[in-house]
Parts: sequence; structure tokens; C-alpha cells
Amino acid sequence: VSLVYDLVVIGGGAAGLTAAETGRLMGLRTALVEQHKLGGDCTWYGCVPSKALLAAARHAHDARHAERWGLRIPSVEVDFPAVMAAVRATVQHIYAEEAPDVWRARGIDVYIAAAQFDSPHEVMLSTGERLRAKKFVIASGARDVIPPALAAVPHLTHRTLFDLETLPAHLAIVGGGAVSVEMAQAFVRLGSRVTLITREPRLLPHADAEAVALLTDVLSREGVQLITGREVTHAALTSTYTLTLDDGRTLAASHLLVATGKQADVRALRPEQAGLRLRDGALVLHETLRTSQPHIYAAGDAAGPPFFTHTAGSEATTALFNLLLPFKSRRRLISPYTLFTDPELAQVALTEAQARARYRTVRVTRVPFSVNDRAMTEGQPEGFVKVVHGRWGRVYGATLIGRGAGELANEWAQVTDRGGRVTDPLFAVHIYPTLGYGSAALGVEFLRALVQTRVGRLIQTGLRRWWRF
Ligand SMILES: Cc1cc2nc3c(=O)[nH]c(=O)nc-3n(C[C@H](O)[C@H](O)[C@H](O)COP(=O)(O)OP(=O)(O)OC[C@H]3O[C@@H](n4cnc5c(N)ncnc54)[C@H](O)[C@@H]3O)c2cc1C
Repeated sequence: VSLVYDLVVIGGGAAGLTAAETGRLMGLRTALVEQHKLGGDCTWYGCVPSKALLAAARHAHDARHAERWGLRIPSVEVDFPAVMAAVRATVQHIYAEEAPDVWRARGIDVYIAAAQFDSPHEVMLSTGERLRAKKFVIASGARDVIPPALAAVPHLTHRTLFDLETLPAHLAIVGGGAVSVEMAQAFVRLGSRVTLITREPRLLPHADAEAVALLTDVLSREGVQLITGREVTHAALTSTYTLTLDDGRTLAASHLLVATGKQADVRALRPEQAGLRLRDGALVLHETLRTSQPHIYAAGDAAGPPFFTHTAGSEATTALFNLLLPFKSRRRLISPYTLFTDPELAQVALTEAQARARYRTVRVTRVPFSVNDRAMTEGQPEGFVKVVHGRWGRVYGATLIGRGAGELANEWAQVTDRGGRVTDPLFAVHIYPTLGYGSAALGVEFLRALVQTRVGRLIQTGLRRWWRF
């Protein structure tokens, strides 16, 4: 016998939790199936532990540099097991709000089991139950992509990194994306020697070049050894790791972290039983997040990049609305994001390079963090905000780098979303002295540049005449 639902959500990570909650709020009889622990990658192996570890590392860094405030902290001792205990306590704290009973109390039936399709309208659970539903959301996440040369040796990934009990003496990190860069800074600040190897010519190849240059410089200054444009062709483990690069060089390390990307892959769900079309193991999706079956949608990492928690949440809502409502909206292929390094690097919509490739007229308005009074009172003048826009200020994107840039980016995400202009923050009173107060400076900078142009001067002359000066 089957248990009958309106909606079954497969996977209880960021996407699945949002999908189930939205379904329930819309009045659907909803089941949520999670094979491991609710919260998924973000809570257990991703955002939460990595941000907590970075926070510990930042506190250590600030304590080491406290002298400029007249504070003498003789030495900063990192008790790594205690650091990791604090990280895990943070995870538990966040999980407490995501545990099965919390969702059950909200009217969602939670099954802790692995689900596989049995037919287009039925899933079989590893616990033996069979769930039948009118609609499904697949939110089963993505799998790590590990290059064969590294798969041959035991190694750390984001799944095992936060179980470490001893501080790595020398951590080699392979990959040049967000996870690698964040963890490189966390571990170097906690006292590890860190070598980061990426096959790309630079870190974070899709991010704004200028911001990446600044961040790369910070990481190098803090002691991260960067090897760019090189691949690891062989890895061996005796008492230590020996990594061979494609130029023949070898390097030794005590620990190896592989963070070479993710790929959506739903083959474990037996998608063929539901008649779902796949390409390279991933679902073939319509731009509304619909699969090849009109009653089955996907969201989050299972729907492919961009791989972010907020993207997962927003896709889950889009998928639910599209499943239920007659008008369909498209998924967003560009998400704002932040790299939680110090300084943070945040990107909203298009980078300067992407905007130049798409639009004929692109202007850039830039303000350094050092003119922001709050950045100065905090002693954090490094960084800049750069807004990329059209001739009359229509915002195409923004790159922000500096301590707190991620928080600041939200305002630019809103401006961009509503098709606003670089001058928009000028029309709301911001609190002084916050970093956000500085957002208005971009509008002022834009107007300063505008009055230097012929059109700007004509407008000024017209206004003077009108006012009879
Ligand atoms: C180290 C690291 C740091 C990160 N930091 C950030 C960050 O700061 N900000 C950010 O936005 N993003 C960050 N991310 C990315 C973010 O974690 C993911 O994009 C997000 O967790 C995706 O959520 P999801 O629900 O799509 O997938 P997941 O969280 O992977 O959830 C999928 C769930 O489905 C379950 N599942 C799979 N198959 C089945 C099945 N057959 N039956 C039942 N259950 C199943 C899995 O057990 C899993 O719990 C980070 C990632 C990593 C690795």
C-alpha cells in the first residue's frame, strides 16, 4: 500500500526544506524524504561549518594584529580540537532549528530514508514505505567531482574536513574555487602551512579580475603558497603525501583537501522508472525547472549550477510556484554570491568583463573602502565597491571586496533586481556610520562623473538658467 501525498520532496537540504515548507504553506499534504540528516550540505559540510571555521580564524588573525589598537596580546594559541568543537557546536545549534520534529510540528511528514522512483508517481523508501504523490520536487543535491589522479589516494573533502581533530601541519588544497580559497585562508590563519594548487591561470576564474587580484595578494601576504596553471598528475601517500605536478615538480604535504567542484547527478534515484530524461547523469531541465515530466521539478544543486544555498532556496520556491500555478517563471542562472574570506568578495549580477561582453556602453563607478568612515573606524580600509552600469546609471552588476562586503552586496542585489540605478541608494537615508552608508557614495561619484560630460554640463547650464542664477 502507498501513502498518498500531494507533494513529495526528495532531499532535505536547503532546496528540499524550502520546497516542503512552501508546499505546506500552500496547503499541500507534503512529505519530505531525507536519507541522511536534514539540513544537507550547507548545515553539515558546507556553509555553516566553513563560516564558523573562518570566524575562528578571523578572531585569531585580529588578535595577532591587535597591537594597532594599543592592545597587547602576547601570543595567540590555537587549540585546534577546541576550535573544531566550537564549529560543531555551531552546526548543532543551527540543526536544532532544522531537526525532523521541527518540520513535523509544521505539518510536514518527514521520512529519514533513501528514496528511489518506482513509477512516475511513486517512490520507494529504503525503509520499505511507498509514497504516492501528484507532484514531486527533486532536491537531492550534487556529487563531488574528484580528478582520477587524486581519487587514487585517501583525501579530505568538505565532507570529512570538519571532522579533523589535529591541525594539519601542511595542508595541500587542490582546486581554485570558493571552497579552496576560503579554507586556504582559514587554515593558514589557524597555523597550518597551506599550498593551493589550481589548474586555472588564476584563482576564481569567473570572478572580477581586479577583486581576485586583491584577494590573491592578501592570501599570499598571509602565507598561502599559490601554484596556478598546474595540474596534479599523480598523488602518493606514505607517511606524507607526495603530489606530482604536470611540470614534473613534486611537493610534500601532511594533508590533502580536494575541492575541484560538484556535478548534479541523480542516477541513484532510478530516474528511468519515472521516465525522466538525463544528460551525463543530470536531469534535463526546462528553464522553469521542470523535468521531462510535467509533474516533477528540480531545485538546488540537483538542478545544476550555480551551487549556492540561497539559489537552492529561491529555486525551490520557483519550482513550487511553477508546479502549482498556471503562469511559469524562469529560473535565474545568475545568483549573487559572497566568498567569505577576509576581505569578503561579493558579486551581484554581472562582473565588469561580463557586462562588457553583453552591452555596448558600460561605465564603472568605483569607491574605495578607505573613504567609508565605518571601514576606517574599524581599521579595515582595504577593498572597494565597483558598480558596473549603463550610461545613465542602470546597474548591470556590482563587485564588492572588503570586510563586510557580503552584507553590503544585498542592497546592490535589490537595486539590480528591480532594474534600478547606481543613484538609488542616494534616495534612502542610510545609518551613519555603517558600511551601508557608503553605498550612497557611489551615486555621488556617478553624478560627479556625469557633470564632467558635455550632457552633464548642458544640464547644469539649463538648471542655472531656470533658477536665474
Ligand atoms: C565547504 C562548502 C561551503 C559552502 N559555503 C556556502 C556559502 O557560504 N554560501 C552558499 O550559498 N553556499 C555555500 N555552499 C554551497 C551549498 O552548501 C549548497 O549549494 C547547498 O547546500 C545546496 O543545497 P541542496 O538542498 O540543493 O543540496 P544538499 O544540501 O546537498 O541536500 C541534498 C540532500 O538530499 C539528500 N538525498 C540525496 N539523495 C537522496 C535520496 N535518494 N533520498 C533521500 N534523500 C536524498 C542528501 O542526503 C542531502 O541531504 C558551500 C558548499 C561547500 C561544500
